[in-house]
Amino acid sequence: GEKQRLLVVANRLPVSATRKGDTQWSLEVSAGGLVSALLGVKQFQVIWIGWPGVYVQDDVGRQSLAQALEEKGFVGVLLDEATVDQYYNGYCNNVLWPLFHYIGLRQEDRLAATRSLQSQFNAYKRANQLFADAVIKNYQEGDFVWCHDYHLMVLPSYLKEYNSHMKVGWFLHTPFPSSEIYRTLPLRAELLQGVLAADLVGFHTYDYARHFVSACTRILGLEGTPEGVEDQGKITRVAAFPVGIDSERFTHAVETEAVKQHIQELSARFAGRKVMLGVDRLDMIKGIPQKLLAFEKFLEENPEWRDKVILVQIAVPTRTDVLEYQKLASQVHEIVGRINGRYGSLTTVPIHHLDRSMKFPELCALYAITDVLLVTSLRDGMNLVSYEFVACQNVKKGALVLSEFAGAAQSLGAGSILINPWNIIESANAIAEALNMPEEEREERHRHNFMHVTTHSAQVWAETFTRQVLLFSFLFLNSR
Ligand code: UDP
Repeated sequence: GEKQRLLVVANRLPVSATRKGDTQWSLEVSAGGLVSALLGVKQFQVIWIGWPGVYVQDDVGRQSLAQALEEKGFVGVLLDEATVDQYYNGYCNNVLWPLFHYIGLRQEDRLAATRSLQSQFNAYKRANQLFADAVIKNYQEGDFVWCHDYHLMVLPSYLKEYNSHMKVGWFLHTPFPSSEIYRTLPLRAELLQGVLAADLVGFHTYDYARHFVSACTRILGLEGTPEGVEDQGKITRVAAFPVGIDSERFTHAVETEAVKQHIQELSARFAGRKVMLGVDRLDMIKGIPQKLLAFEKFLEENPEWRDKVILVQIAVPTRTDVLEYQKLASQVHEIVGRINGRYGSLTTVPIHHLDRSMKFPELCALYAITDVLLVTSLRDGMNLVSYEFVACQNVKKGALVLSEFAGAAQSLGAGSILINPWNIIESANAIAEALNMPEEEREERHRHNFMHVTTHSAQVWAETFTRQVLLFSFLFLNSR
């Protein structure tokens, strides 16, 4: 018969649109995790709903873009620049993102932000309503609607108000903070109520799910049950669904000629040295300064390693128009300069720092030739870089130093050296331990991680979530 339809709603469509003429658009689909996750879910016909990332002023442009998107299975939600500024840059990225990652809590910043909060929240609701309109316009009875991330927290309630029988799931890709942090958010109740309208609410880890349930019990006075949250007999199921990667995309890539070529070049370039690697967006949550200080401490304490190790740090630029991010970039550059000045020689430096992104084959080669991956996130919903590294390491079987504040620590903990990135001495010791790890232990730890990464793929994640919501709504309907 006909496949059931899955409407995937996320702030950003996994596609970049470029205008090529009055009615001509070129669309480039990005190969992100969510896309490949849902390509793997065979029992659904997937329809994406989201913002295509462009501003279109004229009707001809809007219509032709909608049509071009529709041909690829996308529904575009067109937002204007003022809305994106208030809703996306403002409420999502300046309020929710820092709060959910326990950063940006400086008194003066928050005080300044409170003034624009109400208008930003209004824009947030307006944007969520536009996403709801797009869902409703495309909805057919029996469809399952899966809403994604902190951008769309009030969307589930808008959908259920329109049609209480609509099956709705919501998944958060970031951490959900302790209720002690969450409850400082003005308008905290409205977001929780918006999310609770969904049938199923998912997080990366059990801790995030527990924090959410606590927030609901403390702020809304609702009852937390082992299944989730209960409000007047209606239960919203809350559970952990740790995301994974499309591991085959990586295990296959390292077998291709293009990647092998890069591997050869890089191995020659770094010959005689152990390679340590960091791959992060240049964001405060990634703890890049902490990582550099730990590496500096390691070099200071272990002079015999100074000409035998190199740290390659890929720092992908992000939000470069925001002052806080510019300050972080300067701070990182200053530390890199200091360490290279101190421990470099005429021919080499200990840190190879790049402010740019890598092409996929280059990135896979880097993962493959690395001896030790360093993940020092201060908070990180999951951290897929650690998964991708493991997937590319089946020859090298390198070590993973992983922050306990990354969601990935819940799944790759036993195969990694876990650190508190705030403790520079502990991290420096972990670097030494990773570099000196006996081969047998290294291989054993890699085997553990590799097994996890290849069995808990993005496809498995999407299947588990969608199966749960269907199962649960079935049980719920029967119990009424
Ligand atoms: N990435 C990329 N180009 C690069 C470096 C990284 O596309 O030059 C990708 C990487 O493959 C991974 C993602 O960026 O899929 C980072 O995801 P992660 O969960 O580690 O952190 P986030 O950036 O989402 O906070």
